[in-house]
Parts: sequence; structure tokens; C-alpha cells
Amino acid sequence: MKNKCVGHAVCSLMAIAAMICIFFATRRARAQEEKVPTSVHGVFVVFLGTGMPRPDPGRQGPSLAIVANGKAYIVDAGVGLVRQATAAYARGIKALHTDQLDIAFLTHLHSDHTLGLPDLIFTPWVMHRPVPLRLYGPEGTEAMVNNIEKAWAEDIDIRIHGLEHNTTGAYKVVVHEIQPGMIYQDANVTVTAFPVLHGSWKEALGYRFDADGKSIVISGDTRPAQSVVDACNGCDILIHEVYSGGSRGSGEVTPGDAYFSSFHTSAGELGEIAAKAKPKLLVVWHYVPRRNTDQTKMVEEIHKTFHGTVVVANDLDVISP
Ligand SMILES: [Zn+2]
Ligand SMILES: [Zn+2]
Repeated sequence: MKNKCVGHAVCSLMAIAAMICIFFATRRARAQEEKVPTSVHGVFVVFLGTGMPRPDPGRQGPSLAIVANGKAYIVDAGVGLVRQATAAYARGIKALHTDQLDIAFLTHLHSDHTLGLPDLIFTPWVMHRPVPLRLYGPEGTEAMVNNIEKAWAEDIDIRIHGLEHNTTGAYKVVVHEIQPGMIYQDANVTVTAFPVLHGSWKEALGYRFDADGKSIVISGDTRPAQSVVDACNGCDILIHEVYSGGSRGSGEVTPGDAYFSSFHTSAGELGEIAAKAKPKLLVVWHYVPRRNTDQTKMVEEIHKTFHGTVVVANDLDVISP
């Protein structure tokens, strides 16, 4: 939350304004820490990892938890997620105890979003999660899970039949390969999947969570998509990927430009998407800075068309609607 101030153009105008900005950002961060819910009620988002493929030591792979009525629902399985969940648990979020991590939703199968999947399957099992993981994802999820189980077959055998005496069933994954639409509902949440546009991926998804009268929409990885606008439509929180430095301004198009414009959303494009989607709060993560641009410039780009609040999420941020 400490980057919230970069969303205000005034921050970049003069040093004194920057100091004021830092003051408020610090207050905000403190308020956020104090706001870490200890109650099991309500809904909030815990950012377990906010990074992208580049191995930034300060950002784990993309993964977040929607916590509703004391239950955690994981979205995406970036590297580091179980340890990050344990760090959040240590800060008082009981829903993120290792043995409670039993339901997850994948937006797509890119490695940066799934490197933590073996971790999510096996670590909670080894730490005595009593039930199998329920996993929702696009076509191909089942094959990925089957291959992970094959890769760790000897480990599974030794843990069950060796001196650890692990339970036999809880490493298994109950996979649901899903199509867009309402794909999950329980007493705490309703989850709706929608298609997004992620380059040449046949199926990439975003998710909308409705819980406790609040709506949280996660874009997944996507270039600008009307489906994100429609899924949000005035939602409480829109969580969207972004990159900055989309154009050299010379008209020259590099192979990198072709990739980014097909697979991802530039800051300027995100401003336009958010202006149409009208979230009460826009949270950006999975941020890729290109061409020596930085977070401040990225948020300024968004604010050219979106005039609402923008937060750049950091690992272990907790954000409530
Ligand atoms: Zn991707
Ligand atoms: Zn990604």
C-alpha cells in the first residue's frame, strides 16, 4: 500500500509535495497494517505474490487469496505462495494456515502462474492438510496435475509407505476444468469465470468473486478485454495486470512490442479499461516496467483516463473493499 501516493500527479511536481505524499503513504501503510483483519467475518484480498516472470527477490510469483467469512480462496499459484500464506498467517490471517489451503483457481497455465502448484499440492499435504486440493482452471489443468503427480511419484510413495505415514488421499487433486460462467458457489462466495485475451492461449480466464455484498474482479493475464469491463461494471475492486513503456514514440515496433500488445495491457490501455469498468478501487499487480519506465510513470499513464483510486500492490498487502 505504500505506493498509493504514486497515483497522484501532484507527487511528481515538487519535492515538498513528495514529502507530503510519503507522509500520507506511511500513514496509509500503518493504517493498513492495523487493518489486518483478525475477525473471521467480511471479505478482503491478501496478495501472496505480485511479481511476473522476472525473478525479483522482493516479489514472489503472482498469487492472491480472497478471504471471505474466514475461508481462503487462492487465485493463481506463483512461486512462493505457501510460504507467503504462512507469512500472512503469522500476521493474524488464520484462513491462510497451511492445512487450510484446499481450494484454488487458475487463470491460465503460464509457468509464472503455476510454478507454485506442486507446492500447493504437496506442502499442505505433508503438513497434514486432511483433504485433497480442489482446483479450478482452464483446459489442460488436469494434464498438468497428472504430470506433477507422476514427477513426484517416488516422493508420494515414500511419504505414504515410509515412516511418515502420510494420509493416502490428500495429495490427490480434485480438478475441475471449467468454461466461462458461474463455476463455484458455497455459503461464502460465488465465483464467475470469464474469458480474457492472452495472446495465443486457447483459454485464459479472469474471475469475479461476489462475497458479503462485495465484488472483486481479477483480470488474469490479458490484453485489453471488454469481458473485464463487463465483469467489473462498477465492482468494488478490479485487480489488473499492467506494463509500462509500451511505445518508443518513433513508430518502430520491436518483437517485444508485438508480444506485449498481444498478451498484456499497457498502462494507457488499462486507464481506458478502468474508465469504462468504473471500479471503486483499481489495484495493479504483475507489473512489467519496460524501456526504463517506472511505477510513477505507469500510474500517471493510467490516470490520464482513469480518475479513480489506483493502488500498486506489494507482496503481503491486505486490501479490503
Ligand atoms: Zn500469462
Ligand atoms: Zn503472467
